[in-house]
Amino acid sequence: MEIIYYKRETSEFAKMREAKLLWKPENIFKDYRKYILTGYLLKMVQRYIGENIRFPEIFRFTLKMLKEINQNEVNINTLYSIILKFLKIQGVGPEMEKCIKCEKIKDYGFFVIKEGGIFCEECSNNFENKIFIDKKTLSSLKFLKRENLGKVKNLKIENRDKIEKIIISFVNFYLGENFTEDIKKIQKI
Ligand SMILES: [Zn+2]
Repeated sequence: MEIIYYKRETSEFAKMREAKLLWKPENIFKDYRKYILTGYLLKMVQRYIGENIRFPEIFRFTLKMLKEINQNEVNINTLYSIILKFLKIQGVGPEMEKCIKCEKIKDYGFFVIKEGGIFCEECSNNFENKIFIDKKTLSSLKFLKRENLGKVKNLKIENRDKIEKIIISFVNFYLGENFTEDIKKIQKI
């Protein structure tokens, strides 16, 4: 929106004079799947800006996601991609390039959810709750985090169970259980 405010030098508050809608994601309202995904996105964003109102990055991210959802066909990969990107914006990773502890570059590893990413074999020894992730699965996760929503839709994921397990555990840990429940509902659509 474009909003015009009037504010007198002497007054504490401004008056809104005009508000104009510049763009709206028309296609989202015509497609049930897009609509549901957008609902999920906005719910995450709303929860986040509740605590961090002065954080412009989150608004740029939201607009970018809305445009991409509006433009492209969507599926469950789209949701996973949105979640991974949202976590990145929030600053909670997931780290998938190098071992969190020794910083060795890795193309496979052990995921430790509460630490926010992967560890190498040695460094993961101290953790009980870790999920082994092979090269292919890790590279699919990176693809979902990196690429735009038009591309991720067509990604063929071999080890979907593991990807889902990691994403759902992440969401559960960082966003809470009710965001996990929503994912399960969306999966059925
Ligand atoms: Zn290490």
